[in-house]
Amino acid sequence: MIRIGIVGYGNLGKSCESLIKRSDDMELFGIFTRRDLKEDKFYLLDDINDYKDDIDVLILCGSSDKDILIQAPKLIENFNTVDSFDTHKKIYDYYKEMDKLAKDNKKTALISTGWDPGLFSLIRTYAESVLEDGNTYTFWGKGISQGHSAAVRSIDGIADASQYTIPKEDYIEKVKNGENLEFKAEDAHVREVFAVAKEGYDLKELEKEIKSIPNYFDKYETSVHFISQDELNRNHKGMPHGGRVIRSGKSANNNLSTIEFRLDLDSNPDFTAAVDLAYARAIYRFNKEEKYGAYTVLDIAPKYLSKKDYDKLLKENI
Ligand code: NDP
Repeated sequence: MIRIGIVGYGNLGKSCESLIKRSDDMELFGIFTRRDLKEDKFYLLDDINDYKDDIDVLILCGSSDKDILIQAPKLIENFNTVDSFDTHKKIYDYYKEMDKLAKDNKKTALISTGWDPGLFSLIRTYAESVLEDGNTYTFWGKGISQGHSAAVRSIDGIADASQYTIPKEDYIEKVKNGENLEFKAEDAHVREVFAVAKEGYDLKELEKEIKSIPNYFDKYETSVHFISQDELNRNHKGMPHGGRVIRSGKSANNNLSTIEFRLDLDSNPDFTAAVDLAYARAIYRFNKEEKYGAYTVLDIAPKYLSKKDYDKLLKENI
C-alpha cells in the first residue's frame, strides 16, 4: 500500500480524501492543515516532519495563489510530493527550484499535474509532435470559474455570484475545419453570470459594473442574470468544469487531420484528485527507482500511472 498524506483541506483535499478511501493500492495516513481541526484524521501542518517515515507521498492541495510556492519547497526536503500548481507563467521557475531541492534531498516531486496544467499539457505535446503543421487551441468550459465568480462577488451591491465560462461552438467548428484563427480567449468564449443583488441597488448599474471589470469581463461577450440566493444555492453552487484541446493540421498530401481531447466534469476537484492520485502512484515508483528531482506530466511514461503490470498493459492496452 502507498501511504498518502494530504496537505490542505479545501475542495481538492476533500476530494483526495474520498478517493483514497476507495483505492485498493493507497491508504490515507492523515490530513495536514494549518487550522486546528478537531477530528483524529487531522494533524497540524507545523508538526509534519515528525511523520516523515510514515508517508510515501504527500499530495499538496493548497492554493496556487497563496500556498504551493511557500509550502512545497519546505516539504520536498522530507517528502515526495505531487501538486496541481496551475499558475502557468510561474511553472518554469517553480520547476527549477523544486528540481534542485528534490535532488539535494533524494526526493521526487511531480509538479503541476491535474487537467490544465496536466492532461491538457500532455495532449498539447502529443498533438503538436504528431501534427507538426497545424495549430493548437485550448477551450475552457462549460464550467464555473472561481476567479471570475470572486471578481463579481467583490462588487459592492453583489451578495453572491457564480460565473460560467462557455466556449463558442461556432468558433470550435471553424477550428476543427482547419481555419487558421488567431486564438484570443475573448473571441472563443462567452461568460454567463448568475448574481444575487443586495437590496436597494440598481440592477442595470450593477450589470454595467460587472461587464466592465477589466480583464475578467470587459473584452468578453457577457450575460448577467439576477436571481435569488435560494436559486443560486440550488442550481449554481456545484463545481462543474471541463474543456477541450483541439489541434488541426496537415498530414501527408495536405490532408486535414483533427485531434480532439475533451473533458466534461461534474466536479473539477473530484477529477483533479483522480489525476493527482494516478501521478502519486507514478512518483512513488520513480522514487523507489531512485529517480530524484522534479518531474512534470511530460516525463512520466503511462505505465507508471497504471495499476496493471506491464505484461497486462501489453496484452490489453496496446
Ligand atoms: P481551496 O480554496 O478550497 O483550498 C485551498 C486551501 O485553503 C486549503 O488547502 C486549506 O488549507 C485552505 N482552506 C480551505 N477551506 C478553508 C476554510 N474554510 N477556512 C480556512 N482555510 C481554508 O482550493 P481548492 O481545493 O479548490 O484548489 C486548490 C488548488 O488546486 C487551486 O488553487 C488550483 O490552483 C489547483 N487546481 C488545479 C487544477 C489543475 O488542473 N491543475 C484544477 C483544479 C484546481 P488548510 O487546510 O491548511 O487551511
